Amino acid sequence: RHGQPDRWVRTTCPYCGTGCELDLGLTDGRITESRPVLDSVVSRGHLCVKGRYAFGFQEAEDRVTRPMVRRNGAWEEVSWDEALDAAAVALRQAVMNAGPGGVGVLASSRATNEENYLTQKFARLALGTHNVDCCARVCHAPSATGLGQVLGTGAATNSFADIERAAMLLVVGANATENHPIVGARIRQRARAGVPLVVIDPRRTELAAEATVHLALRPGTNLPLFQALARVILDEGLADLAFIQSRTEGLEAFVTSLQAWTPERAAAACGVAAEDIRRAARLYATSKPAMCLHGLGVTEHIQGTDGVMALAHLALLTGNLGLPGAGVNPLRGQNNVQGSAQMGCEPTRLTGYRPLARALADHLPVWGAALPEAPGLTAMGMLDAAGEGRLRALLVLGYDVLLSHADARTTAENLHGLEALVVVDLFMTETARAFGTVFLPAASPFEKEGTFMNGERRVQRVRQALPPKGDSRSDREILCALAERLGAGGPFRFPDAESVWNEIRQVWPDVQGITYARLEREGGIQWPCPDESHPGTAVLHAEGFPGGGRAAFRLLDYTPSAQVATDTHPWLLNTGRSLFHFNAATMTGRTRNGHLRPDNGLELHPADAASLGVVDGEAVTVTSRHGSFTLLAHVTDRVRPGEPFATFHSVPAFVNQATGPGRDRHTGTPEYKVTAVALRKA
Ligand code: SF4
Repeated sequence: RHGQPDRWVRTTCPYCGTGCELDLGLTDGRITESRPVLDSVVSRGHLCVKGRYAFGFQEAEDRVTRPMVRRNGAWEEVSWDEALDAAAVALRQAVMNAGPGGVGVLASSRATNEENYLTQKFARLALGTHNVDCCARVCHAPSATGLGQVLGTGAATNSFADIERAAMLLVVGANATENHPIVGARIRQRARAGVPLVVIDPRRTELAAEATVHLALRPGTNLPLFQALARVILDEGLADLAFIQSRTEGLEAFVTSLQAWTPERAAAACGVAAEDIRRAARLYATSKPAMCLHGLGVTEHIQGTDGVMALAHLALLTGNLGLPGAGVNPLRGQNNVQGSAQMGCEPTRLTGYRPLARALADHLPVWGAALPEAPGLTAMGMLDAAGEGRLRALLVLGYDVLLSHADARTTAENLHGLEALVVVDLFMTETARAFGTVFLPAASPFEKEGTFMNGERRVQRVRQALPPKGDSRSDREILCALAERLGAGGPFRFPDAESVWNEIRQVWPDVQGITYARLEREGGIQWPCPDESHPGTAVLHAEGFPGGGRAAFRLLDYTPSAQVATDTHPWLLNTGRSLFHFNAATMTGRTRNGHLRPDNGLELHPADAASLGVVDGEAVTVTSRHGSFTLLAHVTDRVRPGEPFATFHSVPAFVNQATGPGRDRHTGTPEYKVTAVALRKA
């Protein structure tokens, strides 16, 4: 039929961790359409505005498609051989001068599983360092660590389909209708059908407006609220004692530790009503199964990991684990956040998110080389080390460090300490522009084969629709070529993505049963899937917790954030994303979405706008103790007075100039969600 694409290629959406499948329509060798997959188990015939329209970035005019080396301060296009030689020399030099600890590698949660696996293998085998991390560090690292501490595994316990099985939904720090729209729509549908919904969020998000109880807490006070919920469940005799006795340990000390957190005390700390805390606790504890879904509003705080542990405690107290419609489920931000850490892009863990000590033995026969036992540095640790001169060179794939790390001034100072920065990306990132020494142009997600792992542990195929633009190459080709130049080519001879996946299956037993052939036949499969006859696992912990052990209640201390409102900085800034754009808008900003909503701006309560003399659309300068930025005001009562909200999609605005140096005490994840600021009309 006239106007129909010539052919369709089925792949997985490159944006959020929902992992919707989509069909890309190609006309005359260009992507001209993206349509939903009717029988997809994840998206069930739907796509959000990002999946539907955000596919043009790969042909943007400013895409970098030739390798480049910086000479005398200016970028020069060079051949691949020259660029790869320059990168290899720089990395080798850093190892010679400062030892293997003098180099680091940062991976991308937007790259495929196969690419992430090769990235950490490259760091460990070709460079000899565990200094490898991924951008999960700045979002969901606390989910993996917190759930690991309590439940023994860091992945989402349940499936998105459980949203329809839950008798109650608890949504915490997650603006799902904008950031995971297909998941958010399912939650909203259930709420409208009468399923109780409790939302914990400082903002009146779309889901909060539908909620049975909305706890609009003060930013930075998650932990007191979660502890008070636990205390109400125990005090009112709502705990599932049979579950606790048979499946957990550490309750007694935990109960004692909760004594301080009466609903009244938590209410005062959080700025909510004590009676609402009780109502929320009763709803969660008495509607079984109850499903908890959380987002970055939990993790991006100095108590991020503690907050995740506290949510896991609520599930343990009420027996909401190991059954459909329940569990604790992080809504992963980027398409492959689950996969990047799971593949081993983590300084203390190897593939399968297994601690170094336990997994080294599995890797030895496959990799054919022993690895150092001492762990490496996190992304934040690597940046700190660069600032101190201990880290000399960094290889960064698909990760705009300067733009995305909090406290940009310190990030820039640290990056300045590097002797070499090799960037593998689609565009001239702000990091590359300011500090890059070699630029290796990468293939886009539409130009390569592989797999992504969505937020419910489902491995799904990424299929090539286009040839790589210009001279760009897949990360697999780039990493293998670099390894050859470093004299470590032997373990990096992979003819295609499938051969990489097959090696992953050898070192990580939980995905042994997932083959490309099965993914073609059956669609996505959820791990654990230990053999090829296994259907995959929709619900974790149905048989117990890892190692035959028990889940553990942990004792949590509350240390309030240093970011408190003062006379000079009386507002508390929150940051996040919006429906039309994704993170720094590197991709969405170069698509039709860029025109649909070019700038999302600064949400400001009408009372604040009036006090500043600002009307909708006028520029406001936001200044913290760390720096400042300017955005256009969007006056709305979605936010509370005194608590503006900024999206970080605008590169010129560069919101992280104002966010602070606070970090989660367990994982180092930055405190993006609360910064004391002053506002003025620009
Ligand atoms: Fe893509 Fe997420 Fe939207 Fe689905 S919900 S289409 S995965 S951005």
